[in-house]
Amino acid sequence: MICGRTPEELIRDIKAFHGYVAPGLLIGAFMVDSVQLRLGKGVEADAIVETKHCLPDAVQLFSPCTVGNGWLKILDLDKFALTFHDRHSHSGIRVWLDIEKAKAFPDIYNWFMRLVSKKDLPTDVLVKAIFSAGTDILSHAEVKVIQFAAREKKGAIKVCSICHEAYAASQGETCLACQGNGYYQRIPA
Ligand SMILES: [Zn+2]
Repeated sequence: MICGRTPEELIRDIKAFHGYVAPGLLIGAFMVDSVQLRLGKGVEADAIVETKHCLPDAVQLFSPCTVGNGWLKILDLDKFALTFHDRHSHSGIRVWLDIEKAKAFPDIYNWFMRLVSKKDLPTDVLVKAIFSAGTDILSHAEVKVIQFAAREKKGAIKVCSICHEAYAASQGETCLACQGNGYYQRIPA
C-alpha cells in the first residue's frame, strides 16, 4: 500500500486529481508516504515543496496540506525534494530523489535527467519502473526548518476607492490593479 492505496487506486486517484499519470507525481506519492511513516502519527505537519512541478500535487493529494489551507508552501528551486515538519517545533524530515540511487534504475534516471524522449520511454514502462523502485531512489534526512516554517497571517483589508473591491491594505492606497499593475485589462462592454 502506498498512501493507503493499492497501486491501482493510486493510479486512479492521480489521474482524477492531476489529469494524467505524471511520473513525478507517482514518485511524489512514495515521497509523501515515506516521510509520513517516519514522522509518525499525531504530528501536525506542514509541508514545504522545492519545485512547482508535480510534487505540490502529491502533497495535496496524499496529505492534509494544501496551498489553500496554508499548510503547504511551494519554493521555486526546481529541486525534486520536500519536507514535512512539525508545525510547532519545526523539526521534520526532508526527502529527495537521490540521483546516485536512481542510477540503479536507468529508466527513471534517464527520464529525470531528460536523456530520453517520451517516444523512447513510454509512460507505462516508466510507471512500472517507479513501482519497482519504490523508495529505493529516495534519501531522507532529519531537518530543522529555519525559513518559511511559520504559517502566514492575513493582514489588514481595505476597500479600493477606484474599483470598490476589497484588497490587502499592504498594496497601498488603491489596489495593485488600479495602480496599473493588474494581470488583466477590462474589455469595454
Ligand atoms: Zn482597485
